[in-house]
Amino acid sequence: MDLIRVFTRFPDDEACVEHLERVRWGDTPTCPHCQSTNVGRRNDERRIARWNCRTCRASFSVLSGTIFHKTRIPLPKWFLAISLTLNAKKSPSSHQLARDLDMNQKSAWRMAMQIRAAMVHERELMSGIVEADEAFFGRKPRNRNRHGDDDEPKAPRGRGTRNVPVDGVMDPSGHVAAQPSARVTGRDLHAFIECLVGKDASVLMTDQWPACRRAGRTMPHAVVDHAARYVDGFIQVNSIEGFWALAKRFWMGSHNHCSHQHPAAYIVESCFKLNARNHDSPFGAFVRDAVAVA
Ligand SMILES: [Zn+2]
Repeated sequence: MDLIRVFTRFPDDEACVEHLERVRWGDTPTCPHCQSTNVGRRNDERRIARWNCRTCRASFSVLSGTIFHKTRIPLPKWFLAISLTLNAKKSPSSHQLARDLDMNQKSAWRMAMQIRAAMVHERELMSGIVEADEAFFGRKPRNRNRHGDDDEPKAPRGRGTRNVPVDGVMDPSGHVAAQPSARVTGRDLHAFIECLVGKDASVLMTDQWPACRRAGRTMPHAVVDHAARYVDGFIQVNSIEGFWALAKRFWMGSHNHCSHQHPAAYIVESCFKLNARNHDSPFGAFVRDAVAVA
């Protein structure tokens, strides 16, 4: 949703709460503590409407348990920040958000990190032909054009640098999932793939990288040898390499100085944006996920 529509549709907290209540509960307000629907709206003048549960006696609002819980920031600013984040090809920095929304940078940074945290959600296991790969995020190598003469060793790349290793998988529909890896080992990659890819209906495609061999032990595994060719019949990892290229531009674009501190958040944002590219309303999907808590 574009900024003008967000600004017009959600001018105050009341309009935002009404929207969130409709998305979260539909016609049936539900206590988030005991799931009872025997609830009643409190009759007091609060910024955010509160409800009482007649079953467990707790009070709650539509924000309980969500990223907006106990926020002091007006909800229209949250909605604008979500729209600015989703619409930007590269992620807006907290300084940019602070300027756009007239707030201090620390609050803008916290808000942006919570927005990124809400971009993670459970999904069914991937199936079909799944590409898996690893990439290193961070500074580009210095003296990139050095070719490894006797006096000047070749500039290190990937492993051997302080760049952040990231594991990723992509299914045939183009849905991608990625996360930073603590260690560059077959064990870590295998664990990551097992969480995301169904063993039964899958062929795993990787390059000849040794860490992938372990992942290939539990499911059919096809390897493309990049030293020989980049596509070997149907075996290729070009789609996920396209994602790495996008994600690296995104990573370097706005967060040059802080990218090493919170790599998971930025990777999650890249995945969400790529996965939402064919979505009618990424804003609607984001808000639905953000309030879809038990
Ligand atoms: Zn209750």
